[in-house]
Amino acid sequence: MDDCLFCKIVAGEIPADTVHVTERTVAFRDINAQAPTHVLVVPRDHYANAAELAAGDPTASAELVTAAAAVAAAEGYDDYRLVYNTGAGAGQSVFHTHLHVIAGRPLSWPPG
Ligand code: 5GP
Repeated sequence: MDDCLFCKIVAGEIPADTVHVTERTVAFRDINAQAPTHVLVVPRDHYANAAELAAGDPTASAELVTAAAAVAAAEGYDDYRLVYNTGAGAGQSVFHTHLHVIAGRPLSWPPG
């Protein structure tokens, strides 16, 4: 999509601190990190949210999770949180699905 921030990061048109890449995914550090490790894993192709990705490309959907686990392992964390926000009311602000990988501090439950 022409006006999608994360499509532009995937394409290299906007810089990002990329930490992991796979055939179908790109992982980069969140610009406003909420923990010592806060990485976003995105599919290279544009899907608005996690459910649309799972329906449209189940292989990429699974690859997001395995990439997220690889990121956490590479950063030295066995304990980490994976988050998909879906819809503005749930905190989604970028409508190219992205899996948050959050680690490196105590993570309380329920999230705010
Ligand atoms: P959401 O709120 O949609 O679940 O998450 C979007 C995330 O993207 C936020 O945590 C926000 O800090 C991050 N973000 C927004 N703009 C940029 C950017 O230009 N670069 C990077 N690396 N992260 C961004």
